[in-house]
Amino acid sequence: MRLFFCIAFASTIGADLFAWGLKGHRIVARIAEHQLSEKSRAWVQELLANESLPRIANEPDHWRSNPAWNCAATFHYTSVDDGEIYSVNNAAVASDIVPALVYFEKILRQKEAPHERRIVALKWLVHLIGDLHQPLHVGRTCDKGGNTIDVLWFGKKTNLHKVWDSQMLNDSDLSYSEYAEFLNTQAKQPLAEIAKGSYSDWADEAPIVRADVYLCFGKDGCCAAGKNCPNDHNSFGACESDTPFLPSLGYAYTEKQRALVERQLLRGGIRLASILNSIAAGEESASAKLMRQIGDLDKKNGNRIEQCFDAALKKN
Ligand SMILES: [Zn+2]
Repeated sequence: MRLFFCIAFASTIGADLFAWGLKGHRIVARIAEHQLSEKSRAWVQELLANESLPRIANEPDHWRSNPAWNCAATFHYTSVDDGEIYSVNNAAVASDIVPALVYFEKILRQKEAPHERRIVALKWLVHLIGDLHQPLHVGRTCDKGGNTIDVLWFGKKTNLHKVWDSQMLNDSDLSYSEYAEFLNTQAKQPLAEIAKGSYSDWADEAPIVRADVYLCFGKDGCCAAGKNCPNDHNSFGACESDTPFLPSLGYAYTEKQRALVERQLLRGGIRLASILNSIAAGEESASAKLMRQIGDLDKKNGNRIEQCFDAALKKN
């Protein structure tokens, strides 16, 4: 099911999957930058030369226009349905965001890997940690991560995925660095607690994280247009129905979701820094067990992420 989802998702939605938009990815990267160890800062700087993490954070989305990277469309997302957990077995076949992150971390841990390869792997890792924390990039299969749910956003028709990708954040007055400075002071748990876990553990947070994403609040209204508006509705996008009405989202929705958006950006930034610091320190990866599981599956199935990566680097 997941493989079908990924293929259908990639071919029908394609370039619309710009997770977190420019600003969200930069905020995650900037938060991470603040928390790099000295060793890790030096190592990252050596790879990026005159660039910074926020500057490169969106590059993999820009590469979508380059046919050499067509094979990487599935790297940006996965699905974990309500009540389910991430399936490593499916992941190895689907070449989705989790094995992609595992692979790019592995490259970054290989000091002998060619410089160029490590630079591109770093750009992917930074970007995909952002994607993994956008609640609808680890979405439900039935609505393709909110892509099939039409909504009115401040009166204009769009879809729920796009609202979460960029529209909500773009409406904020803060620049990405101002936002990151602010969020850096907002962690409610110790950073080490937030950083705990592997890529698949973080994907497993998705069903809980996105629970409120399908609610409407206050004056916005779940039923701005369309037939069959239920009387007592405060949610939309039920998997079993076609949502015959058009939810209208605006100020009330943004206000209610703000805390979730900010928590996810902060988690992404803290976790990115923790991975980079662990690589610099030569510590065992927090995803080591997952790496071994995926490595075993790759021996049987071949590693599609690596095949795609090698082919794309050759073409560029
Ligand atoms: Zn992306």
